[in-house]
Amino acid sequence: MTQTPAPTVASLSRFRTTCPYCGVGCGIIATPDGAGGLDIRGDKDHPANQGRLCSKGSALGETTDLATRLLVPRVDGKDSDWDTALDRVADAFRSAVDTHGPDSVAFYVSGQLLTEDYYVANKLMKGFLGSANIDTNSRLCMASTVAGHKRAFGTDTVPGIYEDLEEADLVVLVGSNLAWCHPVLYQRIAAAKTARPSMKIVTIDPRRTATSGLADLHLSIAPGADVALFNGLLDEIIVRGAVDEAFVADHVSGFAAARDAASTANLSVTGLPPHEILNFFRMWIGTEKVVTVFSQGVNQSSSGTDKVNAILNCHLATGRIGKPGMGPFSVTGQPNAMGGREAGGLANMLACHLDLENAEHRAAVRSFWAAPEMPVAPGLKAVDMFDAVEAGKIKALWVICTNPAASMPDADRVRRAIEGCDFVAVSDITAETDTARLADVLLPATGWGEKDGTVTNSDRTISRQRGILPPSGQARPDWRILSDVAARMGWAKAFDYETPAEIFREYAALSGIAAQFGRDFDISALSDISDAEYDALAPVRWPVTATRTGGRFFGDGKFFTPDGRARMLPLHHRAPASDLSDDYPLRLNTGRVRDHWHTMTRTALSPRLTRHMGEPFVEVHPADATRLGLQAAGLAWAESAQGKALLRVLITDRVAPGQIFAPIHWTAETASQGRIDALVAPVVDPVSGQPESKGSAARLTPYAPAWFGYAVSLAEPAPETTYWAKARVRKGWQVELAHDTVPEDWEGFARALFGVPATALAVMVQDAARGSARLAFVDNGRVLASLFAGPDPIAVSRSHVAGQIGDPALPNLLSGMPGADQPDPGAVLCSCLNVGVNTILHAIETQGMMQVAQISEALGAGSSCGSCRPEIQALIDSRRPGLAAE
Ligand code: SF4
Repeated sequence: MTQTPAPTVASLSRFRTTCPYCGVGCGIIATPDGAGGLDIRGDKDHPANQGRLCSKGSALGETTDLATRLLVPRVDGKDSDWDTALDRVADAFRSAVDTHGPDSVAFYVSGQLLTEDYYVANKLMKGFLGSANIDTNSRLCMASTVAGHKRAFGTDTVPGIYEDLEEADLVVLVGSNLAWCHPVLYQRIAAAKTARPSMKIVTIDPRRTATSGLADLHLSIAPGADVALFNGLLDEIIVRGAVDEAFVADHVSGFAAARDAASTANLSVTGLPPHEILNFFRMWIGTEKVVTVFSQGVNQSSSGTDKVNAILNCHLATGRIGKPGMGPFSVTGQPNAMGGREAGGLANMLACHLDLENAEHRAAVRSFWAAPEMPVAPGLKAVDMFDAVEAGKIKALWVICTNPAASMPDADRVRRAIEGCDFVAVSDITAETDTARLADVLLPATGWGEKDGTVTNSDRTISRQRGILPPSGQARPDWRILSDVAARMGWAKAFDYETPAEIFREYAALSGIAAQFGRDFDISALSDISDAEYDALAPVRWPVTATRTGGRFFGDGKFFTPDGRARMLPLHHRAPASDLSDDYPLRLNTGRVRDHWHTMTRTALSPRLTRHMGEPFVEVHPADATRLGLQAAGLAWAESAQGKALLRVLITDRVAPGQIFAPIHWTAETASQGRIDALVAPVVDPVSGQPESKGSAARLTPYAPAWFGYAVSLAEPAPETTYWAKARVRKGWQVELAHDTVPEDWEGFARALFGVPATALAVMVQDAARGSARLAFVDNGRVLASLFAGPDPIAVSRSHVAGQIGDPALPNLLSGMPGADQPDPGAVLCSCLNVGVNTILHAIETQGMMQVAQISEALGAGSSCGSCRPEIQALIDSRRPGLAAE
């Protein structure tokens, strides 16, 4: 085979690597600062971001400290050594397989894993342990897209590339808050629209999000109604004669059945005014270059796969696929969700897009691996896997690089299930996650900055994550930990890897075999790259074969189904699976915030990322808030049939009446009762097995504590109140508090909360009648801690109070506000440059700054990573004449 030379970077001295957060897959240039940290810059040469980074990527250098790291193996809660820990894992898995059979063991892995880690985990479970019980948290993220792609295309392949988002004349964002969840893609689209104002944007989302501010049209669709809307669009495409007859005749099957189903679409279930629907239909049909972007709002649904196919139907009917500026475009949530899909990390797949249920594919992989056995049926998908754990059918569980006790639906039940499992191993970088606390054996893994391997982003670009820093403590790469266990179980030869490059070459070679079966994932031209070429591998979009590198798929009408034709499917609307009732009348939507990531094991380490959203909250419409007696900035119990959480109330018309939104990030580590996935019903899409994380039935009731509090402290506080939410600030910690009874002795309460030395001087003002108190502890003239408590939500300037910690005590220490000569900047909007809402509003109102660029130039806000620009625009819009009253 003629080999395509491996792309190389000019020099590795600048440590090119890849961001470990979202599926945009931005390139980073990282420079060690010599003290264990990293200076972070966007890589101008990386095709995904071209130098841009969002707030999360920019703050990566603040997340490498070791305070929370798991540094040595632990067995039964005690520090141990690698041999003891690995022996214990191998013995437990061997014992379970021998006694109860291969399906008594399971791996639950992660879209954070590198492809090489994924490949080894999958090989060990499917080829050697003999079960397909390996699934990934990507099941919660994009399994419906995988299933939808396979149904329509015969393969799980994103047809387009990022440039299509800029070349399109119309970008439709469905269930996708790009501004917060894929900020650099948002910035690319926003820049394209600025350069070419004729470009149109439509957002389709039950919630008006930061992304909606960019839209020419926003459709606040009813939850779960996307199939009806896109069926309606398909029907309109047909009625208006916009079908690409030649493309359909030559390359598509199933058109008639899809047409018939679409003709029955009931658009009233969308809850949208007819003129908005018609406007959208006209824009979509009348624009040849249209890209329909979709993500979690589509995937995380009990009809997620049908939603995906409803979108694909429209693109197939019009032939608008795989050509410049047009096509359906799934964007993935995690940094290597795509790599996991390619490496066979889901329970129903083999590596390299081969099918587990295809006997020829199984035999080829088994032969390639020299595997003793291969399962013939799919393994347990995530929700089913933890059901089996609860039922005692899984005797040994290995959780790798993820936190299911916090992030799975029905999380309290999942936590209990893991607790009751006979044997649980957890590989992680963090010592005290909700899941790590339940482990029999804890295995320290290398983290971002230490790991070495590859990831694939949302447009099929494979990039290197490089080990820049030495492993922390005794941490080891995940592929090595897995290989060491495999060796102890008797499979040393098959897992005798010394480097990730060896694994990558094996994987690339297997893709060449997959290509012989007509599979599209083919990187075989990289199967014999040298270690040096692997080290220097520059971002490259697959396929990478002797004859082709990168490009789009399906524009030529060739698909990967048995007959080579794409399939349109007949689809019908289904409402969310959880029925609303008198007990649970509200539809709960869950999702991400701008500056945090998943269960915050990394982003919570950065004080700057915490400035934007410092505690768990629930967004509720003003009409619902009034009806339910909820107080702005008060607290409320959010409850479902599964569980409950205690959240700060944020009253906003961004959510529609009858709907509430809460973020997914808070865990038992960061809040007393902020785990929103405890409320999410474990109902799944019947095709993909993806949970419906955006459609549970819930209720809100006010929580009226005896007092609210806000405290800051140099040392980490230890709250035991009904409500607390902790976060790092520049020199210490802040904690929001609320409790049912007022302490008789505020000073004693605060001393216990902060653990301050007895020598620290307490300064206090107290109003016993109101039940309020303000106190601070000062030692050697420096402020150690302060507490503000009272019967109402605490209205102090948090940035001012937090800024005093560790500094000399000022006369107005207990005022909670800056002096009259220092206006309160308000809640932080721009995390990078620490610019608050009040500061920006002041500039708008007193200096007439009505453009984001003016604010950026005058105040700096929005001039660094740019993640806050949509929110600055929203503030400007709120002060525009004629809009202010909305
Ligand atoms: Fe990382 Fe932000 Fe880029 Fe996503 S958009 S990869 S979080 S820098």
